[in-house]
Amino acid sequence: MTGSEVFDIIVVGGGPVGLSTGWQAAAQGQRTLVLDRHGFFNERCGTSGAERHWRLQYTQEDLFRLTLETLPRWRRLESLAERTLIHEIGSLWFGDVDVETNEGQIAETMRVMDRLDVRYEALTARDIERRFGFANLPAHYAGFLQPDGGTLDVRGTLAAVYGLAQQEGCVLRGGERVLGLEPDADGVTVRTDRNEYRCAKVVLANGAEVNSLLAPLGCRIDIKLYEMALVTLRCRGHDVDFPFWFVFQQPTEEDTNLFYGFGRNPWSPSELVRLGPVFEVDPIDDADQTRGVPDPRHVARLSNWVGEHLPALDPAPAGASTCLAVLPGDPRRQFYLGLATGLVPDGHNIVLYSSGWGFKFVPLLGEVCVDLALTGQTQHDISRLAPTVPQEAAQ
Ligand SMILES: Cc1cc2nc3c(=O)[nH]c(=O)nc-3n(C[C@H](O)[C@H](O)[C@H](O)COP(=O)(O)OP(=O)(O)OC[C@H]3O[C@@H](n4cnc5c(N)ncnc54)[C@H](O)[C@@H]3O)c2cc1C
Repeated sequence: MTGSEVFDIIVVGGGPVGLSTGWQAAAQGQRTLVLDRHGFFNERCGTSGAERHWRLQYTQEDLFRLTLETLPRWRRLESLAERTLIHEIGSLWFGDVDVETNEGQIAETMRVMDRLDVRYEALTARDIERRFGFANLPAHYAGFLQPDGGTLDVRGTLAAVYGLAQQEGCVLRGGERVLGLEPDADGVTVRTDRNEYRCAKVVLANGAEVNSLLAPLGCRIDIKLYEMALVTLRCRGHDVDFPFWFVFQQPTEEDTNLFYGFGRNPWSPSELVRLGPVFEVDPIDDADQTRGVPDPRHVARLSNWVGEHLPALDPAPAGASTCLAVLPGDPRRQFYLGLATGLVPDGHNIVLYSSGWGFKFVPLLGEVCVDLALTGQTQHDISRLAPTVPQEAAQ
């Protein structure tokens, strides 16, 4: 024990969201500490692999507006870090336009793009085959290309927010696990495996493990954990490339039947590209239960889909790993962001962010977490995202 160090804000979790929060809090003159259990740049939680999908489009108009608000914040981050983080290779959604998925729904998303005056190109199954090299698509499949979408550089983003946090004087401590929080009317005492700290506000940005700190305070938010497969495949030719693509299909009895893939990494092109299934099946109870080895059935399903529909790729996996997906129990939410007021005693001193496909919002999420910590409110419409407990616990 080194005694009780005092901070204005303590951020639990040093993934991209925690580091973005640490950077932006310190930039506002807040004495800020970010703690990470596994160390910074670890790939053991919700952030692993080289890339994430950047898209403007959402089926829900409020979330669509949040991506539009996030874009200038990415541009500012790129300018401060002096590196490109968004690579606009395009975002291609296609498939059954009426199927509802966690990602959204194609037909309604096109209507929202019309309303918000966001450009896109509508495509038929034949267009998609001819333009992007897919094959044997059912004739009723259709979709669109949104040209401003594309790929986010995950490691570049982490380096950027870590570097800026450090530059602003944020204290960054890796390999230190937060074991418990004791909120009271004036602030929060934070106990770790090495120290005890005192701060005015805590930001929980510890993703899958948020409930391990909320449960002792009498609350668990409604999240589900899935260890999802990341698969690399080899391009069959030098001239093969794709936009980011996501295929929307009717679920099968076994799984959600959804697949996505990236083109060549614009910042380090190679003959390998990454794809994945988005199967919300076989949830795990705890982040520590991940195995790092994907379910071979999921890899085989992806490989078979590619064998049938993407002749430009060799369907035999060149590599496979996993990433921990943390999703809200209620899919309409997309993710949780808000104060813990009403969830735990003195929850007004705890801000929490967890779950969902959140990478695309990293600069905005950091800003909103700081807004909530400092003023209890934000100019952004986050009403849909208010944290909730599972229904059975609420009854
Ligand atoms: C397969 C897959 C594909 C995805 N694709 C996309 C996409 O295309 N677009 C998109 O926008 N998003 C996508 N996402 C989601 C996105 O990757 C995550 O939302 C984001 O990376 C999570 O970042 P984070 O900072 O919230 O959490 P994490 O990166 O999980 O970081 C949490 C950190 O908290 C630390 N921690 C946990 N408990 C404690 C504790 N008690 N004390 C101290 N530290 C602790 C952990 O060590 C960890 O480093 C995808 C996710 C997966 C799994």
